[in-house]
Amino acid sequence: MADIFRPRKRSEIMSRIRSTGTAPERLLFRLVREAIGGRRRIARNVRTLPGQPDILIPSFRLVIFAHGCFYHNCPRHGHQPKSNRQYWSPKLAKNAQRDLQNTRKLRALGYAVWRLWEHDFKPSRLEATGRLLKRRLERRLLYLEE
Ligand SMILES: [Zn+2]
Repeated sequence: MADIFRPRKRSEIMSRIRSTGTAPERLLFRLVREAIGGRRRIARNVRTLPGQPDILIPSFRLVIFAHGCFYHNCPRHGHQPKSNRQYWSPKLAKNAQRDLQNTRKLRALGYAVWRLWEHDFKPSRLEATGRLLKRRLERRLLYLEE
């Protein structure tokens, strides 16, 4: 489908979508909290780390992002808008580049970096995402305790 919106208009719409309803970041926090219980500290929206991770679990040496499908070009829903391509292509490419750099920096600091997508938090997928997250967190803990 062609992108019928001009870039600025599109930006407004995307930010409005992100700011309404239950944001993926909040759902991510809820799932992580459910998975690891109340005793371990979970920091949110950590400005002091590269890329400002949505979640930091210090005792797991782990950061987790909940990425928007459009801005971060998810393999399933990330698409290049058909109009205003000269605006969006470099912008989306830059986002991808920045994500990669931030991942490298975070790993260099000793963190594992997980990325989940906006679509993982759709109501129909939320439960499965919660289960997957719980399994991965359990594995991460085993790995750290070895
Ligand atoms: Zn997606």
